[in-house]
Amino acid sequence: MLPEVGGRGQERLLESVVAIHGRGDAALVCANFLAGAGVGTLALSDDVESSSALGRSLGLAARNPDCTVAVGDGAGADVVVVVGALIPASLPPRSTVIWGAARDGGATLAHLPPGRGCVACLAALAASEPESDDPSIVLGTMLALEALRALLALDAGDGARLVRFDLERSGAEVLPFPACPACA
Ligand SMILES: [Zn+2]
Repeated sequence: MLPEVGGRGQERLLESVVAIHGRGDAALVCANFLAGAGVGTLALSDDVESSSALGRSLGLAARNPDCTVAVGDGAGADVVVVVGALIPASLPPRSTVIWGAARDGGATLAHLPPGRGCVACLAALAASEPESDDPSIVLGTMLALEALRALLALDAGDGARLVRFDLERSGAEVLPFPACPACA
C-alpha cells in the first residue's frame, strides 16, 4: 500500500492493465516501478521481453506477487507506454499513450489522452530526438509516474502534451504538441 494512493486508488491500480513497448533499461525500470506501485497486469512487448535478463534479475513478480506479467501487445490496456523509436504498428483507441525518449542531459515525454494515440505523431517525435541510453533510469521513472497519474486520474488537462526534462536544471518545460499531418 502506498499512503499517497490510498485503498481505492490501490484497487484501481490492481484492476489496471499497462502495456510497455520498447527495448532497454527504461522499459524495464518503468515496468518495475509500476509492478511495485501495484498495477495488476503488465503486458510487455517482445522487445521488452527479449532484453529480460535484467528484467528477471530485477524480479518483477517479487515486487508485487499480485502483478501478472505477460508478453503481448496489451490490447485493451488502460495505458500504453512506448519507449524510444520502437513504436508499435497500431495503438489501441481507448488507451492513454505515453511516449518517452532519453537524450543527453534529459528526456522528452509525450502524453496522448484516449482517442489521441497516433503512430505518426510518435514516429515524428522519435525521429526528432536523438536517442541516448544515458538517463534511461530517470526516463523509466518518469514514464512510470506519468502512467500512474493517468491511471489514478491525476491529470491536469485532457489535451496532448509534450514535456521536456532537463536534468541539469532539474526542470520541466511543457511544449506545444507538434503538428502532425496524419491526425492534424
Ligand atoms: Zn499524429
